[in-house]
Amino acid sequence: MYHITAIAAFKDNYIWCLHHQGKAVLVDPGDASVVSAFLTAQKLSPVAILITHHHWDHVDGIPALQQLWPELPVYIGAAERAKTKHQLQHCHIVSDNMQFLLPQVNLTFSVLAVPGHTLGHMAYLCQPPEQPPVLFCGDTLFSAGCGRLFEGSHTQMYQSLQKINALSPQTRIYCTHEYTMANLKFALEVEPDNLSIVEHQHWCETQGSANQPTLPSSIEKERQINPYLRCDNTALQQRWQQQDAVALFSFIRLWKDRY
Ligand SMILES: [Zn+2]
Repeated sequence: MYHITAIAAFKDNYIWCLHHQGKAVLVDPGDASVVSAFLTAQKLSPVAILITHHHWDHVDGIPALQQLWPELPVYIGAAERAKTKHQLQHCHIVSDNMQFLLPQVNLTFSVLAVPGHTLGHMAYLCQPPEQPPVLFCGDTLFSAGCGRLFEGSHTQMYQSLQKINALSPQTRIYCTHEYTMANLKFALEVEPDNLSIVEHQHWCETQGSANQPTLPSSIEKERQINPYLRCDNTALQQRWQQQDAVALFSFIRLWKDRY
């Protein structure tokens, strides 16, 4: 059994830790102290760091973790590596469609380039045996939302989300922020008649009152509640008087930026 634990960091970040038989893979460790406390408490040794993009809340913990665990490799895209202020050690540069094996956890990861939030943003997909596929998507897809466009165009982001949307419906989605409740509120403005959004709001409230994350989500769930994955819906295009899916995506994203 592979476990994937959310390590809460900062205000609303999650640093995901995939672990199996005492070995751990860390995704976007922005804060080394919460990560090292978790690893120590769980008696886990880290074997790799996967980085989705260069923003500080995703990379700032790397130097301290590499001091504690020298030789700890970092998987990162070339463009993102160039933009971090850190001198990262032991980097493995990843690119679109590449695969790499992490033998200590016996898992192969596939890399998906998903530009938009940043230009070199990567997502990591793996398939633990007899478990649903797992996608670490950073700040590209959020539950009921998507990342802001700091570097890419609307068309780029739409295509990146379509790439994720094409994955198997069972794929579990591990996003890096707890934005679900705020996103659902906005999603309901876009689609006031969508009862799946209301149902999911109730579930998220229950999770919140038990102090539990609303993540992971799944592709199947996101197709029901996430307006950015529903832009091909012609009724929705007509409602907002947009000519096609990309135009509707752009319309919703710009609306959310001002919301
Ligand atoms: Zn970011």
